[in-house]
Amino acid sequence: MAEQTSIDQRLIDRLTAEIAPAHIIENCPMKEYTSFRAGGNAALLIQPGSLAELFFAVGQLRSANVPHLVMGNGTNLLFCDSGYEGVVIRAGEGLSGVRVEGNVIFAEPGVSLAQLSKTAAEHSLSGLEFACGIPGSLGGGVYMNAGAYGGELKDIVIGTSALQKNGRMKDRGRAQLPFSYRHSPFMESGEIIVGVKLLLQPGDPKAIKERMKELMAQRNQKQPVQQPSAGSFFKRPAGHFAGQLIEEAGLKGLSVGGARVSPMHAGFIVNEGGASAQDILDLMAIVQETVFDKSGVRLQPEVQIIG
Ligand SMILES: Cc1cc2nc3c(=O)[nH]c(=O)nc-3n(C[C@H](O)[C@H](O)[C@H](O)COP(=O)(O)OP(=O)(O)OC[C@H]3O[C@@H](n4cnc5c(N)ncnc54)[C@H](O)[C@@H]3O)c2cc1C
Repeated sequence: MAEQTSIDQRLIDRLTAEIAPAHIIENCPMKEYTSFRAGGNAALLIQPGSLAELFFAVGQLRSANVPHLVMGNGTNLLFCDSGYEGVVIRAGEGLSGVRVEGNVIFAEPGVSLAQLSKTAAEHSLSGLEFACGIPGSLGGGVYMNAGAYGGELKDIVIGTSALQKNGRMKDRGRAQLPFSYRHSPFMESGEIIVGVKLLLQPGDPKAIKERMKELMAQRNQKQPVQQPSAGSFFKRPAGHFAGQLIEEAGLKGLSVGGARVSPMHAGFIVNEGGASAQDILDLMAIVQETVFDKSGVRLQPEVQIIG
């Protein structure tokens, strides 16, 4: 059956009967919810205040056959200017519970990686330092197998709980989590990650905090963190660095409309103010073509493009 593309008022009424109306936004400008600060509107945005609300919302959307997707902090997402004719479920503050038991952390998907690494440090647990400056949520981080400075979430995630498309839960242990570079099994399964189990190592809290400070300083020095972006736009091609290939192709600083290849770090596309999603996509295409012509390497976006 073809998926429905407009949101029925009766469905919205059913949702607002269980979820605070303030957590449901119709015709929501996604530029306000994504770090790129660009792109169109979603027909509806829901920010569940609990896992029960998330399950309820997904159940309602499934039975009404309404297209939907889940997001975290929106730091690796670009919504096209035409928007998304479906429902975006944002796993944020309402789903940010964390429990520490010995060296193991159980966490909900909406906790930020920054907060989680701070919590780990406060419990003298080492292993999450690399993630302290990644601006995403834990759910988005696991989906992307986010990583930095030699660490990746795959190194510490030992279990997940996720809601499958058929409405049933699926728990995975390490053996059922075949992560690879910026790839997780959730990219194919379409499951919604609702819980993550991480195994860390005991460490000296002072040394852990010192390392986090050091990594944040490196990031602030080398990345255009003050400008809207989605981080490194392209995946690292085997044997190369995307930023270096882009710079060698003479594209550092190139702009289309309000989008520019960052003069500070050529791996980043930044929004200099007022960029449309199309500006960003046009610039992406020029970078891909030029880099391919000059080096024979085809750059693939790491950013998830919706629409
Ligand atoms: C300044 C800056 C620096 C960055 N530095 C890094 C870095 O060093 N390393 C790195 O890896 N990334 C980096 N990023 C990119 C980004 O922060 C990561 O990819 C992060 O993991 C995305 O998390 P998010 O919560 O923002 O996910 P979103 O952007 O909201 O979503 C990303 C993808 O995850 C899916 N998703 C989100 N939550 C769930 C869930 N609960 N269940 C299932 N799927 C879900 C979404 O559908 C989407 O496809 C950077 C971004 C910026 C803006």
